[in-house]
Amino acid sequence: MTKFEHPKIKEILEYYQIVWALGHFSILGNWDSRTYMPIAGAEERGVALAKIDSLKQKILLDPEFLKLLDEAEKELVNKEIANDYERGVIRLLKRTIEILQKLPSSFVEELAIAANKAQMVWEKAKAEDDFKLFQTELEKIVELMKQQATYLSVDKNYRHPYDALLDQYEEGWITEDFQQFFDSIRRPLQELFQSIKSSSNYITTHPLEEETYDRNVMEKLNRDILLLLGADFDKLRLDVSSHPFSEALSLNDARITTRYRDRNFGESLFATIHEFGHALYDLQVDQDLKYTPLLGGISYGFHESQSRFWENIIGRSSVFLEKILPILKEYLVFLRKYEFEDFARYANLVRPSLIRVEADEVTYHFHIMLRFELEKQLIEGSLKVSELPQIWSAKMKEYIGVEPKSYATGVLQDIHWSAGLFGYFPTYSLGTFLSGMWRAQIQKEVGDIPELLKQENGITTIQQWLKDKIHKFGATYTSKEMIQKITGKDFSPAPFLDYLQEKYSKLYGF
Ligand code: MG
Repeated sequence: MTKFEHPKIKEILEYYQIVWALGHFSILGNWDSRTYMPIAGAEERGVALAKIDSLKQKILLDPEFLKLLDEAEKELVNKEIANDYERGVIRLLKRTIEILQKLPSSFVEELAIAANKAQMVWEKAKAEDDFKLFQTELEKIVELMKQQATYLSVDKNYRHPYDALLDQYEEGWITEDFQQFFDSIRRPLQELFQSIKSSSNYITTHPLEEETYDRNVMEKLNRDILLLLGADFDKLRLDVSSHPFSEALSLNDARITTRYRDRNFGESLFATIHEFGHALYDLQVDQDLKYTPLLGGISYGFHESQSRFWENIIGRSSVFLEKILPILKEYLVFLRKYEFEDFARYANLVRPSLIRVEADEVTYHFHIMLRFELEKQLIEGSLKVSELPQIWSAKMKEYIGVEPKSYATGVLQDIHWSAGLFGYFPTYSLGTFLSGMWRAQIQKEVGDIPELLKQENGITTIQQWLKDKIHKFGATYTSKEMIQKITGKDFSPAPFLDYLQEKYSKLYGF
């Protein structure tokens, strides 16, 4: 491992392998519980994973190890003898340990119990469409989130209580950053959505959404598309789960899932491509970073920038759709009666949706803005949980002109709040807008993406660029540092807005 030469770093990494190994099996346990585990195994699996987690924490908080880290930090950070990878190891371990140290174990346990109960109640409340049922649980979670923010804010220069929660998911990103980001995209997205709605091509349903497929046929199709994307099935598994996800066990073992709902094949297809984007990131990290804390990518936003790049910028582009249509027609006979333009319109349907996960590239971000604004207000205490359904409806109407007729299609739709995941949502939009920055950079450094996709090795060329510029570094740099490193600039939403404008003005003719 030539990247890690300093004796103290070597010592740290050797010790860290135990943490890595425990994490490896936690991921496997988690993957199994979401794919193949019989349902009755859930309780004991939960206990097993929690025990492994606390063992991992104990190992990380071992006083001898903390001393070693401190010594290494003093020796390396202030001198020119360390390389970026070595500094990255110290930074990441310090960050993980700081969070562990700031949250009292009694609090962590209280939150775990509350979140577990809240998730069960949320599921029932959603099924019965009863917000009142969930309200007390959510109030408890919000109180715990405020406490968590207070704990995590100690010795930090945060300006808003929500900052600490955001920073957990996207290092260095605080309320002000996201506020500025959302303020700058709200108007342009509203204007774009208006133009689309005024177009004579505007439709809110498409017949292809109703065409039914055979699940086994669809699975073969998904595998063929993964092969076209260069997937290596010696390193990648495709399985089924109710919510598609991606987990990497190592640099040579990534697991993705998709879902099959018997109709609307695009949902299954694009979920597969999305999760492939996550897996590609994990698999293209430099092999020298094996067993180190630098695995797994920079942040939630960076990871989402990879999945959305493949799902939308590549996957729903007209050149790619043209490329895959003949393959699709082999498997899905009903497609043979549709013209390419019709298929392309289906793959890029823009219309207001009540459900975030079903939203298109344009309206998706209104869902995220809504959750960001509500979370911020809940955490600062300017909004009560009891007021959520009302404000939810009002904002949905203001943003995309639709209002939920039920709690299940409104405030109860996402699992995040019941699980205590406050501060997570904004990374979805950030990732999407980052994918626009990568697109612009590829166009600048390598060439026009549609032209590349027409070439036989175009996909490989794009993947190599992603590897060289982003993937191979793993989590060595913070997200803000990495944006600078890749583009020479700070984060900007402009490239993604340009991409949307260019794409949808063509599709909708305005
Ligand atoms: Mg994703």
